Amino acid sequence: MKKLGINTICTHVGEVKDEQFRGAVSPIYMSTSYAFDGVDVVRYPRYLNTPNQEALYKKIAALEKAEDALIFGSGMAAVSTTLLAFLQQGDHVVLQQTLYGGTYNFVVEEFEKFGIDYSFTESLAIADFEKVLQSNTKVLFIETPSNPLLTITDMQAVGDLAKKHGIVTMIDNTFASPINQTPIDFGIDVMIHSATKYMGGHSDILAGAVAASKEHIHQIWNTAKNLGGSLSDFTVWMLERSMKTMSLRVTRQSENALKMAMYLESNPLIDTVYYPGLKSHSNHELAKKQMKLFGGMLSFELKEGMDAMKFQNSLQLIKPSMSLAGVESTTLSPALTSHALIPADQRAAQGIKDGLIRFSVGIEETEDLIADIEQALKAF
Ligand SMILES: *Cc1c(COP(=O)(O)O)cnc(C)c1O
Repeated sequence: MKKLGINTICTHVGEVKDEQFRGAVSPIYMSTSYAFDGVDVVRYPRYLNTPNQEALYKKIAALEKAEDALIFGSGMAAVSTTLLAFLQQGDHVVLQQTLYGGTYNFVVEEFEKFGIDYSFTESLAIADFEKVLQSNTKVLFIETPSNPLLTITDMQAVGDLAKKHGIVTMIDNTFASPINQTPIDFGIDVMIHSATKYMGGHSDILAGAVAASKEHIHQIWNTAKNLGGSLSDFTVWMLERSMKTMSLRVTRQSENALKMAMYLESNPLIDTVYYPGLKSHSNHELAKKQMKLFGGMLSFELKEGMDAMKFQNSLQLIKPSMSLAGVESTTLSPALTSHALIPADQRAAQGIKDGLIRFSVGIEETEDLIADIEQALKAF
């Protein structure tokens, strides 16, 4: 068949045909028990092979241009299962310096128990990845754009380096989503998502996803069935429903985010704006090379001495919120939430100032978002 366009993939690939009643949407199969015919692999939700699960793999794989996919009960179930599937006692993994907090915690709190050794890179420069490689390095793990400062890692350079040494590469592709970035085009092997974010998109689903070659997915599946982090078929069905509009949502969110980034950059009460779509972003050229649009996430700093919480509480439309990527715009103070446990001086060294605000831009009209920010800034 002819290669399908992105919105057609979102809408149609991986539908479960309703043969019985010819309904318009996929029926939900909630069975946890399927007939055993003595030959075939038995279906069971924890084996990640129910009709709804298998159908959704097709949509996710098509979006990531990968051969196959799996879905999980959370983004962290996808991250932890995938890392453990490729690492065993005595192995070493290289992870980029800035990572989602949950991934960082998983590595530093759990790996020692398994006898898995790890290094974080000193910067995102490819030389710093090369510097920490060891003869027992099995996995290279990146996240681009990163949380919360939207740094950009060179996927092609990382992919090339890993290939030279026979190392498996993994990316947390949550922030870009496959709508804005398909890492497989740059030689990355395994794409991981918190489907809680852009795939779900409505702040009502907790899920994770992985896409890769058939061979790699089989290896991940082998560990997945043992760890048991599967997703309920009802939520699988919800996720399929959400993903039909993913490209529409993410494209609009990305367009909105660029407009908001440009507005914030021109506002005298705002210091720095971090958004890969801005010419002022230190890696804008690289972002242009590897992303379509630049995503719905940005960060900005209020001018020195302005209270970030007071600002956020003065917003009426935009809500302070722990999560991100919903159709509604939300903000968060990394210094008070995700990075609160890190001492202030270390936080500052990582570039996370007290006035930093992470902004998840929704699908609203940007005039309304700008008006909300304008009225909140009047409080100062
Ligand atoms: C939220 C998030 C995760 C973890 O996903 P959960 O669904 O909360 O388990 C991992 N990586 C990134 C970049 C995230 O934003």
